Amino acid sequence: MWGILYALTKTCSGFDFGVHSYGGLYSRGREEVVRCWNCKESVDGPVCVSCGVIQPLGPSPDLFEVLGVVRSYFVTNEAISVAYRTLTRAVHPDRFAGRSAVERRMSLQWAASANQARIVLLDPLRRARYLATGRADPPESGGPTLDSEFLEDVFEMQMKLESDSAEVYDWAKNHKAMLIEELQETFRVWEAGAGDLDIVEERLARLKYVNNILDSAAELCS
Ligand SMILES: [Zn+2]
Repeated sequence: MWGILYALTKTCSGFDFGVHSYGGLYSRGREEVVRCWNCKESVDGPVCVSCGVIQPLGPSPDLFEVLGVVRSYFVTNEAISVAYRTLTRAVHPDRFAGRSAVERRMSLQWAASANQARIVLLDPLRRARYLATGRADPPESGGPTLDSEFLEDVFEMQMKLESDSAEVYDWAKNHKAMLIEELQETFRVWEAGAGDLDIVEERLARLKYVNNILDSAAELCS
C-alpha cells in the first residue's frame, strides 16, 4: 500500500527528509528498494512483512509519507483518518512491548509521528503551509510582508467592528472565501506540474487576520 501511494507523490526536492531511512526515499522520486534493517528483505511499509521488525523513521520524516497518503493539498480527511488508523494499529507500542529496546523506541517514534501527521494534515491551512514551506506553523519571526492596501482594509474593518459588525462580517466572510479559492487554485496548478507555491505563506498570513476579524464580527452579530 505505501509503495503504491508513494509512487504517486510529488517530488519535492527542496526539502531534506533524511536519506537512509524509510521515510525519506520516495519523496525524492528514487526507484531504490528499501531494505529491512534486520532481515534485508525489501520493505514498503513501517513493519517488515518478512520478519515483523519495525523500520526506522528519519529524524524529520515527511508527514504525508509517515501516513502513506498522497502528497496533495486535496487529500481528504477520510483518507488521512483511515491511513492514521491503519498505521497506528501496525506500529502501536503494545505490539512491540516484548521486543528489543531499539524496536520499542522506533515504535514510539512512529506513533508520535503518526499523531503529529494526523493533526497537521487534517488542518487544511497547516497542510497548505507544510506543502509550501515544509513547516506546519508560521515562522516565529520574519513572516511574509503583507501589502499595505490589505492592512489598511483590515484596520478599517477593525475600526468598524463595533459600529457595523454585520458589514464587517460580510467583508471577512467574502474575503476568506476568496483567499481559500485562491489557495485551492494555486495548489491545483502546482499539482498539475506548473506554477509555484510562493504566495501560499502570504495568503495564509492574510487568512489569519481575516479569520480573527470574522470571529470577532460573528461574536458581535450573535
Ligand atoms: Zn525484515
